[in-house]
Amino acid sequence: MKDKLKNYLEKNKESAIDLISRLIEIPTVNPPGENYENMVCFLEKECRKIGLSTKKHITPRHVLDKFGIKGGSARISLVADLDAGANKTFHVNSHYDVVPATDKWKTDPFKAIVKGNKIYGRGSEDMKGNIASVLFALKALKDCRIKPRINIQLSFTPDEEIGGRTGLGYLVSKGLVRADYAMSEGYSGNYISTGNKGVLWAEIEVIGKSAHGSMPYKGVNSFERMNMLVKELEKLKTKILKRKTRYNMRNAIFKSPSFVMGGLLEGGVKVNVVPGLTKFSIDRRLIPEESIETAKKEIKDVVKKFNARYKDSKVNVKFVSQGSPAISRKDSAFFKIAGDSIKSVTGKKANFSVMPGATDMRYFIWKGVPALGYSASGGEKWHGDDEFVCIGSLIDTARVFALIMSRLS
Ligand SMILES: [Zn+2]
Repeated sequence: MKDKLKNYLEKNKESAIDLISRLIEIPTVNPPGENYENMVCFLEKECRKIGLSTKKHITPRHVLDKFGIKGGSARISLVADLDAGANKTFHVNSHYDVVPATDKWKTDPFKAIVKGNKIYGRGSEDMKGNIASVLFALKALKDCRIKPRINIQLSFTPDEEIGGRTGLGYLVSKGLVRADYAMSEGYSGNYISTGNKGVLWAEIEVIGKSAHGSMPYKGVNSFERMNMLVKELEKLKTKILKRKTRYNMRNAIFKSPSFVMGGLLEGGVKVNVVPGLTKFSIDRRLIPEESIETAKKEIKDVVKKFNARYKDSKVNVKFVSQGSPAISRKDSAFFKIAGDSIKSVTGKKANFSVMPGATDMRYFIWKGVPALGYSASGGEKWHGDDEFVCIGSLIDTARVFALIMSRLS
């Protein structure tokens, strides 16, 4: 059976290349979220061609309002089912939105360009390649007459690139998807992800007192105060970076939390005005052993001490986004089948690791669903210029998906 699938996928790879090319050429750019209807329409036809039943879900306006989404397409998700009459369902999620492209690309980012074993185009690696792989896997199973013993459900969702709460997050929260096991984007080759770090974003506001530039003693310089505060926060950062997770990570450097200040920086109105208000951001990533509450308290404690010491300025902290670390519940059978399938295809032992960055997989993990992340890969240029996916990886990933689908029950 393994060889039958392998031969089929090799022989028919043109159809996967054609499919990903057509996906790249629907520019689902987010923000603001464009051409979502076209994409879902196209995917619906592709799913029906391989015998899946489909259902569309539109994220309601009040949910979009809650997460501050204005403009762009209606937020549509497609859920497609292959019912095997089984009790359990294996769910594979893909987001179909892509980030914008700069004008630095060597080729048109929304035209798929095949060069050697690479396919260039925005979204080729993140993550339209996976959409092509998973649909190709199902087509292969159908044409090779291999019937899965588990129900298969696919979801194609928008807005992962802006947090996913109005895409997969919405579907999961409303119970519109089924999953006893789930997969979404993640590592590739012989690496597979089991979850991701947590994230906490803060906005820090330093309020001083503005004054004329020639008479600074009449004011309190919020920029200089901010610098003093940043020095205090750096002490916290040094302490935090000494922590190490006991979980397996792909690189040793990922084993520690991270703490980035100044991604956003704002303040000052004019060269001859003492600044009275300066703002900056903190992007704090948490290892699985840390909690959001503790991470918040650590920042608040530094600010509290600072405010007590400098009474003529005031620092406010606002936490603008947060998500706990997400580590999949281990399911021995599912993990073994996924690991063995990867080994069959790559010839290497599968390495289960936690990713630093968050993906939509966390919505399943937070619900307690065993979930793994795996993707077709290229140059790891996610969100960068000249993004590409390797044709070999596209076919190998399809084979991994097909094997997992045929082995799970
Ligand atoms: Zn992605």
